[in-house]
Amino acid sequence: MRLFQKHSCAVAIWLWAVSASNAQLRVEPTLHIKAEAGSGRVALTLDACGGKTDTRILSALVENKIPATIFVTGIWLKHNAAAVEIMRAHPELFELENHGGRHVPAVDTPQRVYGIRSAGSPEAVLAEVESGATALAVTGEPAPKWFRGATAEYSPSAIAMIRKLGFKIAGFSINGDGGSLLGAKETARRIAAAKDGDVIIAHINQPTHAAGEGVVQGLLALKDKGLTFVRLDDADGVGNEGTTD
Ligand SMILES: [Zn+2]
Repeated sequence: MRLFQKHSCAVAIWLWAVSASNAQLRVEPTLHIKAEAGSGRVALTLDACGGKTDTRILSALVENKIPATIFVTGIWLKHNAAAVEIMRAHPELFELENHGGRHVPAVDTPQRVYGIRSAGSPEAVLAEVESGATALAVTGEPAPKWFRGATAEYSPSAIAMIRKLGFKIAGFSINGDGGSLLGAKETARRIAAAKDGDVIIAHINQPTHAAGEGVVQGLLALKDKGLTFVRLDDADGVGNEGTTD
């Protein structure tokens, strides 16, 4: 009997630990694009979380005809009309996709992700995804097909829900700028190291950060090496954690 009690107590502790860790469980999905014959293709994705526009990056993309997928929030769209106009003037370069309405992580339990409060419930994740899509529709953009949540981390149940709404979820394979917090040199090194099939993530909303300078240097290095750039809509994206299949 005592042995049984001891055992059931251990089971209870184990169950508690499992449910506690499930509540906290988050994933950071990856994304690659399918390889193609030639000197290699990479997809550049840039997040516009909020704040302003890094015109160093925007100008370099236009001047060098580098296509990019821009993940914009409702907040950013509201305050960056001039940049949106430049992007819309170059539809062959820029694909605008859904980064959420208010830049709230798509995590459906209450927790903090890199210091940002998560959506905290399935309803709040839904509101974040749908308000991001609505904000794009209001500017006259085509309906988004891809979603990337704030911080690029998700609870698995939120991934399933977002897929049901019809969006693919954009992970990445190269963290180019470490949330825009890296120096120019390290950012340039990471981006320049991209290989065929990689999906790069960096930021286009931090004009005062050194990382933006590194983004430009890294992209020009890739271009010099003969790699071509594609947008997510123009390539077959393959993600893990059920994000694209
Ligand atoms: Zn963001």
